This record gives sequence, C-alpha cells and structure tokens, in this order.
Amino acid sequence: MVRAIIFYVGDIVKSIYDMTFRGLEEYFLKLGEKKYKAVQVFEWIYGKRISSFDEMSNIKKSVIDNLKKDFTIGKLKPVKVERDELVNKYLFNLEDGERIESVLMRHDYGLSICISSQVGCNMGCKFCESGRLKKVRNLKTSEMILQIMAVEEDLHERISHVVIMGIGEPFDNFDNFKDFVEIINHPKALAIGSRHITVSTCGIIPKIKEFMEFPYQVNLAISLHAPSDEIRNKIMPINKVYPLDQLIQVLKEYIKTTNRRVTFEYILLKGVNDSIECANELCDLVRGMNCYINLIPYNETNNIDFKRSKKDTISRFYDIIKKRKINVTIRREFGGNISAACGQLRSEKEDL
Ligand code: SAH
Repeated sequence: MVRAIIFYVGDIVKSIYDMTFRGLEEYFLKLGEKKYKAVQVFEWIYGKRISSFDEMSNIKKSVIDNLKKDFTIGKLKPVKVERDELVNKYLFNLEDGERIESVLMRHDYGLSICISSQVGCNMGCKFCESGRLKKVRNLKTSEMILQIMAVEEDLHERISHVVIMGIGEPFDNFDNFKDFVEIINHPKALAIGSRHITVSTCGIIPKIKEFMEFPYQVNLAISLHAPSDEIRNKIMPINKVYPLDQLIQVLKEYIKTTNRRVTFEYILLKGVNDSIECANELCDLVRGMNCYINLIPYNETNNIDFKRSKKDTISRFYDIIKKRKINVTIRREFGGNISAACGQLRSEKEDL
C-alpha cells in the first residue's frame, strides 16, 4: 500500500534538502521500507545532484511516488552574480519571492562560503546593513544548504569551509541551524568537516548554552565589538538582554566544557570603540580565556554613519593586544568592491 506522510514547513511542502539522514531513515521505516534507502537518496541528491526524483534508477517506482508526494527537490539558482578577483557575491530568489545573499571567498586553503541564515535580522546592531531590514522569516534548512550547492554548481568546484555570517542571526534560527550542520557534515551529503564550519552569534546566551551540548565541533565566533556594557549597549541592543558579564561567564563555561577556543570579532569604529582604553579594557575582559580576537576594519555603508578607524589606530589597537600576549589578527579584507564585505549584505528587493 502506498502511504504518503506529508511534511509541511508552514504552508510549504518540505524540501528533500530539509531532511537529515536520520530523519530520512525514519521516514522510510514509517513507509515500511528499509532504512538503507536513505543512503541511496543521499547519494542521488548530494552525489549526483539530480533534479527530479524520477532519475533515481535504483529505487522502485512506489517509493519514488511517495517521495514526489512528500517532498520537493527544487534547487536555488542565483539571479545575480557579481564576480571580483577573490570573491563572488550571489543573490538568490526564494520560493516566496524573498531574497538573500551569499559570498564565496577564495583562500589559499580552499573555497569558503559565507551563508545567510534568515531573511532580514531582528538583532538591530547599529552598524550593520543586514539588520536595517527587520526579520521577515527564518531560512529553512534546505535554503541554507542550497546556497552552498548552488555556488558549487556555478564554479564546478568543491567548497571546503562554511561560515554562517551572512544575513541573519543563526542562533535565532537554532533548530534549522543544527539540522543544517548535521546534513552538510554527513559523509554522504557535502562531507564538510565540522572544524571547517564556523557559526557567529551576537550573543544569545540560552542558545550558547544549548550549543555547548551540540555534538559537532563547530567553531564559535562571538560578535563582541565593545569592551564594556556602556559602549556595547549603544551599538548592540542584544546587550541589554544579555549583558557582557553574563556573556563572558557562559563563554568561559563553553570553553571549559568543550575544550574549544572562542573567536571574538571586534569591528573598529572610529571614535566609538577604538581608543587605547578600549584596547586595555578588552584585554582585561578576555584575560585567561582560550580565545582569539579578530579585529575587523569597519566597512562603511551609505546608509549608516559609523566610520572606519584610521590605519594607525587599528595598528595601535592591535599592538596593545599583542603585547598582552592575547591571540589577535586583523581580518583580511574581501569583497568591498562588490559590497560583499561583512555587514554589507542585505535582502532588500530593490537590490536587482
Ligand atoms: N548575527 C550574527 C551573524 C552575522 S555575522 C552575528 O552577529 O555574529 C556578521 C559579522 O559582520 C558580525 O560580526 C557583524 O557584527 C559584522 N559586521 C556587521 N556590519 C559590519 C560592517 N559594516 N563592517 C564590518 N563588519 C560588520
């Protein structure tokens, strides 16, 4: 007997790319089929990258009919690609007409993609272009995965590193983020090593606690951007909900529990957080933690007033931290020419 188990995400039929390997095994068991079919399906959809379930020549018709009833298999196609020497920016149209962007960076260690996790963002960081548009919705797991696959298909090359630092706050879309990691890490899917995946959050403490229990060794980056509540409250509204002492406390717990290092991202904003005092305060704040500070020269945008710190100021800030023997780097800059740099991604419809 052919039985359909229909999965819906809101009103939308689930994509096959929303399914974890375990989820697919359960699906087949419920259908009275061998769970091994999950292996076959993963090989077809991630290995051979078929565009129709009918192409699965080693799967019987009744099962294919079920899959067709229960899932879609559509891909994301970029509607616009801007290409620079080491960076490409991709604009995607989603099924409901919303738009997101992804950025591909060519490093000496391989290709790295920066993907979006939401349409818009509710965190409201004052310096960030992506946050000017309120969150419209979370991205489905499939929409995150298909960003990677679409770019691989554009370049005919494999992507080895993924950062979840595009539009959105991934810890505000935590369940889909977890499924996303589980799937892209799976050897029969994209086989991206968990240590090659980095997630960045503005500091949603309850989710950092949950992330501690997450059984994948994904790198954690924290958008810190200020050494005191006084400054952080002014530029990052999330700090009023989860202030710095609590954030640092939970990160210490995270480092202790997972034995992993945390990355702090720190944008240098002229006259806001780039003084000698700020550098010293920052060192005091993270003293003794297994961490690494990534200083980010601010990318100015037309719509926002903050300015980039001068080169000398950035070097001075760097030197103070270095002298205190804390790991620090200045982020290499990518993508400014095509507005693909950090904080410049957006999802407004006037983009095309
Ligand atoms: N919401 C998550 C993920 C976005 S990551 C987070 O806050 O971490 C995007 C990174 O780029 C964050 O560190 C963000 O603070 C930074 N960013 C935002 N606007 C920027 C800008 N104009 N120049 C440089 N970095 C920026």
